[in-house]
Amino acid sequence: MWCESCQHETSEKNCELCGNITEPVTPIDTYWCKECEIPVIIKRSSNNHKCPLCGSEIKKLVKDIRPVFPEERLLVEILLEKPMKYANCSVWAYNNRYYINGKSIEITSSYYKKFNPEYIISQLEKYKEINTYDKFDLIIERFVKANAVHLQEIIEEAHTFIKQEATNYPIENIVLSFSGGKDSTVTADLAVKALAEPKLVHIFGNTTLEFPLTIEYAQRFRADNPLSIFRTAINREQNFYNVCEDIGPPARMMRWCCSMFKTGPITRVLNRYYRDISILFNIAVIRICTIARLIIDVIHPVLDLAILKDTFTAEVSECFELFQGSRDF
Ligand SMILES: [Zn+2]
Ligand SMILES: [Zn+2]
Repeated sequence: MWCESCQHETSEKNCELCGNITEPVTPIDTYWCKECEIPVIIKRSSNNHKCPLCGSEIKKLVKDIRPVFPEERLLVEILLEKPMKYANCSVWAYNNRYYINGKSIEITSSYYKKFNPEYIISQLEKYKEINTYDKFDLIIERFVKANAVHLQEIIEEAHTFIKQEATNYPIENIVLSFSGGKDSTVTADLAVKALAEPKLVHIFGNTTLEFPLTIEYAQRFRADNPLSIFRTAINREQNFYNVCEDIGPPARMMRWCCSMFKTGPITRVLNRYYRDISILFNIAVIRICTIARLIIDVIHPVLDLAILKDTFTAEVSECFELFQGSRDF
C-alpha cells in the first residue's frame, strides 16, 4: 500500500501518518545502469539506488519505460534518416520519447509527416534481413535478470490477491476474458498458476477486426493449454465496415464498436453459460490488470506474442462496464 501525499509505504488501508486512503500499488521509477545498459525498476519507497547486477550507481530516468523492438527501432532510425545506426544500442521508450543508451530524443508527429508511407515501407523492407534480434535479446535477458526480485514480488502479490478473490467461487464460475494480447495472456497465466487449476474457462473476444497474428496466437494458446475451457465470443450477424457505412465510424462520444463487437458478444456467451449464476469475471478486472500491467512491463519483451498497439486502458474500462453487469448492448 502507498500513501501518495506522504510518499510512504505501509501495510494499512489508511496511512498512519496522515490518515488518507492508501493506494494498493507502490509506484515505481525507472533508473538507468550505464554499465549494464539497462533500465532498473526501483520502488519509490526504496533508498537503494544501485544496480542489482553490477552494483554501480544508477541514475533516475523516467517514471515508466517499455522496450523498443528492433522493428520499431528501425522505424525510428528511418524517420531520423539514420537506418541501423542504433542497432547495437539499448533502446527504450516512454510515450513519444525514445531512450537510446540512456539518452533521450523526442519523436513528434512531424517526423511521421516528413516521408510518405510507401517510402517508409520500402526502407523497412530494405533493412529487414540485417535487422536481427541479437543485441535486443542480450539486453532483454540482462534486464529480466536485473529486475527478477521486483518481478517475483509482484507475481506473489498477484497470486495472493487472486486466491483471496477466488475463495467464494467454484472453479467453474471463474471466467477469464482472453483477447489474445499480452495483458490477458499474463492475467490468464497468473490465474491458472495462483489457483493451480489448468481447467479455467477462457472467453476469447473476437472483435472481427483481429490481426491474423492474434488469431494465430489464440489458436496456439488453446493448443498449448489443452485442459482449459476455451469459448469464442463473436458477432456473426454484423460486419464492422458495413456498420461504419450505416452509422459512421466509432467516435469518442459514440463508441458503438466495443459494445457491438466486444462486450456485447462476451456478455451473450456469459449469459448463455451462466444465466443468473454469480461468476468471478477476470478476477476483479481492474486490480488484477494493474498488477498484470506491472508484470508485463518487466517480462513482456520475452513473451512470444503478436506485438500490438496497447489498448490496455480501453480494455479495462470496457471490462469494468461488463463486470458491473450493464446489459444495454
Ligand atoms: Zn499519508
Ligand atoms: Zn549494472
